[in-house]
Amino acid sequence: MTATTASRVLVLNSGSSSVKYQLLDMATGTRLAVGLVERIGEETSALSHHPLVTGGAKREWEGEIADHDAALKAVAEELDSDGLGLDSPELAAIGHRVVHGGLRFTEPTLIDDAVLKEIERLVPVAPLHNPANITGIRTAQRLRPDLPQVAVFDTAFHSSMPEHAARYAIDVRTADEHRIRRYGFHGTSHAYVSRKTAELLGRDPSEVNVIVLHLGNGASASAVAGGRCVDTSMGLTPLEGLVMGTRSGDIDPAVVFHLGRVAGMDMQEVDELLNKRSGLVGLCGDNDMREIRRRIDEGDETARLAFEIYIHRLKKYIGGYYAVLGRVDAVVFTAGVGENAAPVREAAIAGLEEFGLAVDKDLNAVRGDGARLISPEYARVKVAVVPTDEELEIAEQTYALVTAD
Ligand code: ADP
Repeated sequence: MTATTASRVLVLNSGSSSVKYQLLDMATGTRLAVGLVERIGEETSALSHHPLVTGGAKREWEGEIADHDAALKAVAEELDSDGLGLDSPELAAIGHRVVHGGLRFTEPTLIDDAVLKEIERLVPVAPLHNPANITGIRTAQRLRPDLPQVAVFDTAFHSSMPEHAARYAIDVRTADEHRIRRYGFHGTSHAYVSRKTAELLGRDPSEVNVIVLHLGNGASASAVAGGRCVDTSMGLTPLEGLVMGTRSGDIDPAVVFHLGRVAGMDMQEVDELLNKRSGLVGLCGDNDMREIRRRIDEGDETARLAFEIYIHRLKKYIGGYYAVLGRVDAVVFTAGVGENAAPVREAAIAGLEEFGLAVDKDLNAVRGDGARLISPEYARVKVAVVPTDEELEIAEQTYALVTAD
């Protein structure tokens, strides 16, 4: 590929009704602008744009933004008015977050027609996510047809999982015919955070085994051995694994048949129940950990039980991945809950002293933005908080690809 002197990368994370974006300069490692368009297609669409490099104030406005084309044009105009226009020769590439890469995409990939077709072919396994990502890519291509566009896949980091971790124990032919296997998600975050954890420990990622707990509204755990993912808690879809904000995580699949038989629910209703009305929100009515902790402090038993179920599942994954890895150097917390909720970190590690794990109460209570250890000096296995940065990871992977010789 031709070398480029342009050093800016625009990162786009296109959802069905939203576009999150960041413009980064990879030469200086600075974030130039960040923003979000929400409620695309509604009358009350909203755009929030923060030009960081000019030190300007955040600008917000509401009004109808009909579709992704209009959204991206509005973003381009905002960037333009800060002197950061998308037609600038400084822009090296656009990096797109793409949720599902299936078995085909295990690396960041330069997008051409064939690649876009392959991403479309994956829509049946990612019906909620890939269509929006595809719309984002097409829109960006129209805006800058000459510019390299790169897809960075949420599933890619997990493609190193061995078959025994990736396969479900169901009929092999049925599984293969319908591409049913465990793909995992949040891979960009697990990759970034596991690498940063090795850095924090002052060691090379290839020498370090870590358990990463990405606890946001969606939540997933991964076991990373020497920089390679060997297991992760999300599966064919993001529904499997940990208790999440609104998703059940692991559940006996027979619950689905049972609901069909005794409650007369159809597939779509069960899908909605398990993805949108389960997890913390199903258990106690709230999915924000701050609110749940506030309720617990006021003596609310329903909130307490929801918290305990959440923690119990986390512990099962920590223990399970400990056994999978054999030797663990660090357990690391990241994303909204993992980075901010000290009581979650304390409760998840409590009682695991025999595993060499402990949390120092004072270190755990310190609020901070950076990567930090929260385990006491004596702990054999370190416990860390490492803020995730999926946009930076996407930008770095995109830039590395377009500047590679
Ligand atoms: P996602 O990207 O999956 O939407 P985030 O990683 O942004 O989610 O995490 C959002 C969640 O983080 C919120 O739902 C809330 O539960 C939790 N959270 C955010 N800030 C705090 C805080 N200060 N204390 C506890 N929990 C927090």
